[in-house]
Amino acid sequence: MAPKETIICIGCPLGCRVTVIQDKKGNVAGLKGAECKQGQKYVLEELKNPVRTLTATVPTGDEGFPLLPVRTSLSILKTLLKPVMVETARVKVKPPVKAGDVILKNVKRTGADLIATADWPGSTGEG
Ligand code: SF4
Repeated sequence: MAPKETIICIGCPLGCRVTVIQDKKGNVAGLKGAECKQGQKYVLEELKNPVRTLTATVPTGDEGFPLLPVRTSLSILKTLLKPVMVETARVKVKPPVKAGDVILKNVKRTGADLIATADWPGSTGEG
């Protein structure tokens, strides 16, 4: 029997479980379970060049708001997640920060920026 691998497609909320059928040399011989061509394309790309959007937090040194949530502006190669995390851990931020502000441009030359996903200081809800 040919080796198999299962990948969950994240192309839409259905989350199809796609079985990748490989030949004896490890080449993709077929896909089973993808409900659409978009899912097939996603799985083939995931096998070749898996990418992820990195989400993390940056310490602020502010007791009232100790961590600023951040994410990459684009999905980056999975192999670059660790170096980008290391770079993220070195970041120093100062208020004010608005959600969407660029914290690090072209982080580790990935082509993606590290951007804030929250305001600091945040809204007090007053007014
Ligand atoms: S294969 Fe198509 S239908 Fe299934 S989760 Fe992916 S995008 Fe959605």
